[in-house]
Parts: sequence; structure tokens; C-alpha cells
Amino acid sequence: MSEAVAQLRAILHLEARRGYRNDAVMGGLDEYARRWHLHMAPLVNGKETAQQVAAIVELLSRYPDLAPAARVNAVQTLLAMSEALLPATEVVRPTRSPRKSTKPASPTSAGAKPMPSPPVTPPHAAELAGLEAPLTSLPGIGPTLARSLARLGLQRVGDLLWHLPFRYNDYSHLKPIARVRIGEEVTVQATVRHLDTRKTSGGRTLTTVTLSDASGSIEATFWNPYIHRVLRVGQVYYLSGKVGSYLGKRVLESPEVEPAGDDPIHTARIVPVYPLTEGVSARVLRKHIRQVVEAWAARLPDPLPADLRHRLGFPDLGAALRQVHFPDDLTTLNLARRRLAFEELLIIQLGVLRQHRAWQSKRAQPLALDDAQLRAFLDVLPFRLTRAQERVLADIRRDLQRPYPMTRLLQGDVGSGKTVIAAAAMWVAVCNGAQAALMAPTEILAEQHFRKFREQLARLLHPRRGWPLRVELLTGSITGKRREEILAALAAGDVDILIGTHALIQEQVVFHNLAVVVVDEQHRFGVAQRAALRDKGFDPVPHTLVMSATPIPRTLALTIYGDMDVSVIDELPPGRQPIKTYWVKPGARDRVYRFIADQVQQGRQAFIIYPLVEESENLEDVGAAVAEHQRLQTQVFPQFKVALLHGRLSSKEKDRIMRAFAAGQYHILVSTAVVEVGIDVPNATVILIENAERFGLAQLHQFRGRVGRGPYPSYCILVSDPSSDESSERMRAMEQTQDGFALAEIDLRLRGPGEFFGTRQSGLPDLRLARLSDTRLLEMARHEAEKLLSADPDLNHPDHRLLARRVAEFWSREIDLS
Ligand code: ADP
Ligand code: MG
Repeated sequence: MSEAVAQLRAILHLEARRGYRNDAVMGGLDEYARRWHLHMAPLVNGKETAQQVAAIVELLSRYPDLAPAARVNAVQTLLAMSEALLPATEVVRPTRSPRKSTKPASPTSAGAKPMPSPPVTPPHAAELAGLEAPLTSLPGIGPTLARSLARLGLQRVGDLLWHLPFRYNDYSHLKPIARVRIGEEVTVQATVRHLDTRKTSGGRTLTTVTLSDASGSIEATFWNPYIHRVLRVGQVYYLSGKVGSYLGKRVLESPEVEPAGDDPIHTARIVPVYPLTEGVSARVLRKHIRQVVEAWAARLPDPLPADLRHRLGFPDLGAALRQVHFPDDLTTLNLARRRLAFEELLIIQLGVLRQHRAWQSKRAQPLALDDAQLRAFLDVLPFRLTRAQERVLADIRRDLQRPYPMTRLLQGDVGSGKTVIAAAAMWVAVCNGAQAALMAPTEILAEQHFRKFREQLARLLHPRRGWPLRVELLTGSITGKRREEILAALAAGDVDILIGTHALIQEQVVFHNLAVVVVDEQHRFGVAQRAALRDKGFDPVPHTLVMSATPIPRTLALTIYGDMDVSVIDELPPGRQPIKTYWVKPGARDRVYRFIADQVQQGRQAFIIYPLVEESENLEDVGAAVAEHQRLQTQVFPQFKVALLHGRLSSKEKDRIMRAFAAGQYHILVSTAVVEVGIDVPNATVILIENAERFGLAQLHQFRGRVGRGPYPSYCILVSDPSSDESSERMRAMEQTQDGFALAEIDLRLRGPGEFFGTRQSGLPDLRLARLSDTRLLEMARHEAEKLLSADPDLNHPDHRLLARRVAEFWSREIDLS
């Protein structure tokens, strides 16, 4: 049997090489189909094989009736289907590109995935198999070109569909030659009148072509030595390119050219410009993409249900892909891009909302808080909650009463008072005889939280035991007997509140009855990591409150925290002084130093920040900070005490310095970015940030929040000589606005989501077309995802199967629980 299959495949390859003229075999492929069937019939055993053979015969018989483009597909499809009939060892499957295996295509890559097992979408499976064929199955792509294309991540036919243009040249407007002006980019439709080729003194071949249309004539020059073989005198062509001048005359310089016709690819239209690599020319790639798009796009099954598409006025997937590659006009192009972007966002939203539902299907301990207990808590606070804090606390109280786990994100600007809300949630756990844990991103922060909680909660009595709450700290530095003691007390239920780093949950820490977890995070945890947390095997599952350390633009919150409910504290406690922010050039540094000296003289303290990467700080960076500290202490501020904090110090040492600074034992703290995570020093009034352009707005704003925490007027001084408009814009934004949410939006717009979170931050999905800054589209995707899920929570409806599969594919690669 495999012999017959091999013969069929040889014929199919020949048919491709000969240009799909149905002449690879005597009588054509339809004739051959009958012979092949007769030959195969007795060899076939098993129903599945019989069906495969029948499908091949059927397609072969229809071959003569197919249009040329459809024949290309048919051959690819037949090759793929016949491959399935070969014993496994005979099939050399092309290996997937590395890009694919580590970072597979985005959810919308319809055909680029292996087809599913039969129950999912049976009608398409065999038909779309051709998309999985290697690129060499396409006419005109040999092993050499295929190797070059592989460098672009293109290995299979389907990959070409998703190799999207990064921009377009609009050559769609034809111009009469008479109206062509020097300096313009134009397209003309003209007849070649004359061709002249000569060698230049440099040894290159220059071809000058005289062109004319009804309005006039113009010359075009080409350096392509083969152009005279392509252009024929008397034929009409489209030519697109730049108009230069030679001896005062207009000249089209090396224009793109192709025969005038109904459907140009390289000229006389909006022409796609693709990412290229060595050995792949724009023309060749465009041509191949064109063929694959024409052949396949319309046949791709569309994950978006038709009714949704119609309601939103979106084209179907095939039309959208065709328009994105070869747009009719800018309007349809934009609509097509929006549709594809929408699909990406919808899949993310379906994913996060399903996570949300999964979360809520778990069992949690309902925690009630009566008014007397709430009053007891509020009474120990040295202030009244703001209206925003009250509102958020009400949200949380409501969540906690439910028999399924709270999963809430608490957002608020620096200093808006998130910590007290976390403490309240933990108090609710304690009032119900349960335990609470708080996890901070670093040891320093855990230690600081620990001190604050001890302070704030010390006057509260345990409602059952009647003595003060027991709050403990557990970090990597706490070891030996002390650690064992804490762990034992925790397991026995004697510790009410445990504070630590994120390692708390990862380690084998056993709680007696953990009911509330607060995660104080710097968005290092993506949706996937939270899902992992959830699945740690707690039953009942603890209620979770995630506090973001810095305001996050709404669109990013909907994505990265899309699986959570969101509460926002949008109001600062009363009496806060606005922090005056100034951007100065390095030349003004001495004046700034004098200003700092003046503040210190008045009894205040100052921070000086150097832009080094926290924790990963290398020796060289630290060396620079050490040297600067030395200079500041000995030459600039010899009369003051200057401390130094950097990431290479032990956490004990960092802690000692921070405490000493907070206690006023130092006047000035020189620090790398480690200081970012929330030291509270109410007496500090100036923060000077060196090379401020190296920080994002969110981080600068976070730094700025280190001052203005007491009753004194405070100042943030950015020293920067920015090299780009973008960084200047950031500096100005800092001067002009105090609102962390507004700054976050600006940062997202200026630098994009990757930069917004910094390189170390994970949890950002990999998107082809969608921009996470597109608020409207994202809100729309969110809304539609909610609607879809409320009608069909498991996406079981036949119209939603494909969507369900995309969601599953997307999340299977997002969730990396290592
Ligand atoms: P963040 O939201 O940045 O974590 P914190 O919770 O650290 O802010 O609060 C900043 C400061 O404001 C703390 O010193 C805290 O005690 C104080 N604070 C919080 N809420 C109020 C309030 N309602 N009125 C006055 N001060 C408050
Ligand atoms: Mg905080």
C-alpha cells in the first residue's frame, strides 16, 4: 500500500513542479484517481483508512474543475492527506521552528496548529491539513528559500497567513504622467516606449526606460541588470516609486514594476511591507504570501460566531486576513485589523473570565464581621478612613461573607492607604477564628509591613482569646529554632497573622486555618501564577486580596488582573501636600545640592536615587553607587551624614540602614532602586533622581511617593538630559501631574506595556495586532466575553467550539508553572 501512496505523492509533486496544469500523469489526475482507487481498494483495512482513501479519490476527481489557485491547495491537501496513509517511519515530518515550540503562534493562528482530534471540527480537519505542509510544498520555494524563510519563523504554509505586514506603501492612486512632480512617491500606468541599457563607469548596469501615457512621458532608471528581460516595449505596466531628477528632468528611480492588470501585487495598490531577512526579497515574499492568502484565507474556519461578527460589523476571518495583507483601501484595512485585534483580546478576556468563574466555583470559608468588631478595628486607627477606603472596605466585607473565595485587586495611588485595608481584611479573618497571611515581594517590604502591622494591630484584642493578636514574620532570614517555633505556632493556630515573602505559599508552610491571603505585589505575578496559587490544594480556598504597588492602566488591569474583581482607592487621605516636581539638566546639579543642604539644615532629610536595577545589581553598578556616595559624603555634604543603600547589601544591613535613616541618624540616603518599594520616612522632604530618563513614569511616581509623607512641603527633582522626545515627554508629565493613574496611562501610551512593567515583569500576553492601550476595543472584548460566557459558560455550543479551543491553546502556553 505504501508503494501506491508513494507513487501518488510523486505524481503530486510533479504536478506542482509543472505548474498545476493537470498534466503530471496521462489522462490527468481525475483519470489517475480511478486507477489509484482500484489499486488501493483491496489493500485497505479499517474504516478510517477507507475514509481517507475515499477523500483523496474524491478530491483527485474534482481536480480538473478547480481554478488554478484552488489547485495549489488541492495538491497541498492531497500531500498532507496521503502522508497520513504512510507508515509512521516513512514520514519525515518537518520539525517545527524553534519560535513555534517555545513561543507558539498567537490564538488567532487558525490553521497553523495541528488539527484537532475528530470530535472538535471534523469537516475542516482534512481540508486544512495543507496548511501544515512545509513551505517547500509551494511552487517556487526550494530548500534554500525555505531555510531563509525559517529565519523569519516561517516553516509551514499556514505560517505565511500570519506573517503580517508591519506597514504599507500606499501606491493606490494612479497619476497621469504630466502631473508627476519631483520629490513625490507616485504610481503611473504607462507603456514602455524605449529601453536602453549601458554600463556605467563603475561597472554597473543602468537601464533607462522611456514611458508614456496619454498625458505625457517620463524616464525611469533601473539598476537591476535583468530588468530589460522583464520589460517589453509596447506593453503597459504599473510603476510605483519615487520621482527624482536628472539634469532637471523628472526621473522615476528604481520603481517597483509589474504588468498592468486587474490585480497588481507590488504596485498600483496599497502594498504590504513585510519583515524580511537575508535571502528573501520583498517581491518574492509578497508573491508567495499572496498565493497562500488567496488560496487559503477564505477557507479558514472563523472562531468568531457569525452573529457576534455581524452585530459588531466585523468581516469574517478570511476577509480580514485578505484585507490585512492586500487591502482594498485604508478603511477596510483598519476594520480588518480591528477585527483581528478584537479576536485576540476576546480570547484573553474569555480566558481570564473563565479563570474568574473557576475561582468562584471553589469553596471558601464565609467570614462575617459585625459592626462592633469593625468599630473595634477603626477605633485603634489614628485617623478616619477616607470615603474611598470605606467604599473599598465595604466591597471586601461583602466578598468575604460569601461561601466562595474573594479574588480582588486593590488599586490605589502611592500613599492612598492600601495597607490599612489589607489589615482590615485580615482582621475579619481573625474575628472568625481563622488566620491571615500577607506576602510581600521582598524581604525589606515584608519586614516593614511586619513592623507596621504589629504597631497598628497591637491594641486589638483577639475576640475569642481576649489577648493581643499574634503577628509573626517569616522570611528566608528567619531560620533555626525561631523558624521552627513560628511554624509550630502557625500549625497550632496560635499565630493569627503571618507576614512574609511570596515564598510563604511556595514553601511547605502549614496553616491551621488560613482564610485570607493578601498579596502585596509589584505585578510580578501573572494570571497564570495566581491560578497556580489557587491550586495549592487549600480546601476551603482562602480569600485573596491582591494589592498593586502602583497604579495600573485600566486596560492592563483588565488583562493581567482580568481574572479578579477590581477596587480602586481614588482619593488620598486629607492634608497631603502636593509634591513639587522639577526637571533640571545635569548642569543645575550644584544648585540642587545647595537646596538639599538647605532642607537638611531645616531638619529635614533627603533621598538621592541612582538608576540601577534592583536586586540584579551587578558589581559595576554597585561600584558606581559606592563611588558616588563617597563623593557626596566627602566633597558635597561633608557636614552631613550620608548613608548608602544598594541591592548587594544583606537584608539585615539594608534593614539597619533604613531604620537608622528613618530614625533620623542619617541626613541623606543615597540609594539604588531598592528604595522604591516603600520606605516610610515622614521627615524626608526631597528626593533627587539621577538619570531620571532611565526610569518609567510608574517607577518615578513611586519614588516620588517616598517624600510628602509628613506635614512638610516636599520636592522631587529629576536630573536628566534626555536623548529622545519620548523621555522629555515623560519628564514633563512628571512635572505636570501628581495623579498616578494618569501617569500610568501616559507611560503605557509612550512606552507600551512591555516597558511599562519593565523586562522582569511577566504576565503580559503575546499579541499580534492588538494593543493593550486600545481601551475601547478592550472594553468591547471584555463585554462580549461576559455575554458569551453568561449564555454558554463552558463554550459548549457548536458555534463556540473553535473559540473554546483558541482559549485553551492560549492558556496552555501562558500557564507556565515552573
Ligand atoms: P499605600 O497605598 O501606598 O500602601 P499606605 O497604606 O502605606 O499607602 O499609607 C500611606 C500613609 O497614609 C500611611 O502612613 C498611613 O498610615 C496613612 N493613612 C492611610 N489611610 C489614612 C487616612 N484615611 N487618613 C490619614 N492617613 C492615612
Ligand atoms: Mg504600600
